[in-house]
Amino acid sequence: SVSVVLFTSDLRLHDHPPLHAALAAADEVVPLFVRDRAVEAAGFATPNRTAFLADCLADLDASLRERGGRLVVRSGDLVAQVCGVAAEADADEVHLAAAHSAFATRREDLLRRALAADGRRLLVHDAVTVAVPPGEVTPAGSDHFAVFTPYHRRWTQAGPRAPLAAPRRVPVPDGVQGERLPAREDVTGVSPALPAGGESEGRKRVTAYWRTGLDAYDDTRDDLAADATSRLSAHLHFGTLSPVELVQRARRHGGPGAEALVRQLAWRDFHRQVLAARPAVARADYRTKGDRWRTGRAARADVEAWREGRTGYPVIDAAMRQLRHEGWMHNRARLLTASFLAKTLYVDWRIGAEHFLYWLVDGDIANNQLNWQWVAGTGTDTRPNRVLNPIAQARRYDPDGGYVRRWVPELAGLADRFVHEPWKLPGAERAALDYPEPMIDLAEGVDRFRRGRDRGK
Ligand code: FAD
Repeated sequence: SVSVVLFTSDLRLHDHPPLHAALAAADEVVPLFVRDRAVEAAGFATPNRTAFLADCLADLDASLRERGGRLVVRSGDLVAQVCGVAAEADADEVHLAAAHSAFATRREDLLRRALAADGRRLLVHDAVTVAVPPGEVTPAGSDHFAVFTPYHRRWTQAGPRAPLAAPRRVPVPDGVQGERLPAREDVTGVSPALPAGGESEGRKRVTAYWRTGLDAYDDTRDDLAADATSRLSAHLHFGTLSPVELVQRARRHGGPGAEALVRQLAWRDFHRQVLAARPAVARADYRTKGDRWRTGRAARADVEAWREGRTGYPVIDAAMRQLRHEGWMHNRARLLTASFLAKTLYVDWRIGAEHFLYWLVDGDIANNQLNWQWVAGTGTDTRPNRVLNPIAQARRYDPDGGYVRRWVPELAGLADRFVHEPWKLPGAERAALDYPEPMIDLAEGVDRFRRGRDRGK
C-alpha cells in the first residue's frame, strides 16, 4: 500500500509524526510539497520566504535521497494537486500536520472532502508545528487562554509528547513525477544577508547555540548589540525544527537560559491557540479600544519614514534597516519599532504588521499579527496603554550604541553620549551629519495617542 505525506510548515524528517505514521501503515510513501497558488496569490510568498523555502525543499529532498527516497514537488491548486498525486500513486491515505490559521483550516476541510469523494482518507496529526496543540489546555469556560501566565503554567504541565527519531529508509514508488525543485538563485529582491534555510542548517544552529549561547540567553536576550538570541524563528516557522524536540532538548540541557527559551516557545504556542480560537484576529482587533488611527497624507509620509529607517530616532532606524538587510529583526527592536508606529505615530498596527510580514523570513500570521496587537494594545497585553520610549529603551538595551553603529553608519563615529540623541551634538557637528532630525516630539506623540484612545472610548 501507498500513503502520501503532504509537507507544509513541517519541512523536516526528525520528529515528524505524519511521516512516522505513514511509514508504519504503508509499504511506500510519496513525500509531497505543493507550491500552493493561493499562498502566492495572497502575497504571502515574499522573496525572503520563497528563497528560504527553496533551501528547505532542497535539503529535505537531499535527506530523503539519503534514505532511498526523494521529494515530489508540484505547483498549482493544492487540493487538485494532492488528489492528483494520490490517484497516480493509488494511495489510500494522505497524512498532514494540523494547521491553525483560517486559510489553512479551510484548505484542510476542502482537501478532506475532495479525498473522501475519491474514497481516500485524510489523517491530520497534532503537535507537529507546535509543542502543545491549541485547545489541549483551556481555562474553565473558554476555548482559549487570553492571559499568558496561567496559560504558561498549564502548558508546562501539559507536555509535550516524546520526540520521534528520523526514519532510516523512506521507500518512494517510482511512478509519481515531480517538478524541478525551486532554487534560491531564481528569487529576486531577497535581503542581502538572508540566512540559509533547511533542516540540516537548523540542526547545526541548535547544536552551536546549545554550546555557546543558551546558558546566557536569559541575561543577554534583550541586549540589542549582543545579538545573542537563538535565531531559530525561521526554522520554527518552516518547521525545519520541531518545537517538541526543542522543548525536550532545552529541558534536558537545563538551567535558567534554557528555561527562559522554553518560555518563549510557550509564547509561540500561546499565540497559536489564540489564532486557532479566533481566526479573524489575523486582521481584526482581538480587543477593540475604538482607536482612531491617523490616516491621510501626513500619516502616510510618517509610515514611509518608518519603513525606510529615517525617523531620526537612531534605535528605530537601526532596527528598520536590519529588517530589510537580514529579513529578521531582534525581538526587543520589534517591540520598539511596533510601539513607535502604533503608539508614538498612532498609525494602525495592520500597516506595520504588513510591512513586517513582507520582509520577515520568520513572518508568521500568529506570531506577527498577535505580537503587533499585543504592542498596539488591541491584543492580549494587560497593559495596553504603555508607550515605549525609544531613547530610554535604547540607553537600556543598547548602552554602548553598538546596535545603532552597526546599522546606521552615519552615526558610527559619534561618542556614546550622542549616539542615541544626535540632535544634542554641538551645532557644527550636527550640521555636518547626514542624518534626519527626529520626526516627532515624543511627548506630543504620547499625548496624541492618549487623546485618540480617550476619544475612542
Ligand atoms: P529567541 O528569543 O531565541 O526565541 C526562541 C523562539 O521562541 C523564537 O524563534 C520564536 O519561535 C519564539 N518566540 C520568541 N519570542 C516570541 C514572541 N514574543 N512571540 C511568539 N514567539 C516567540 N516571531 C515570529 O516567529 N514571526 C513573526 O512574524 C514575528 N513577528 C513579531 C512582530 C512583533 C511586533 C513582535 C514584537 C514580535 C514578533 N515575533 C515574531 C516574536 C519574536 O520577536 C521573534 O520570534 C524572535 O525575535 C525571533 O528571534 P529568535 O529566534 O532569535 O528568538
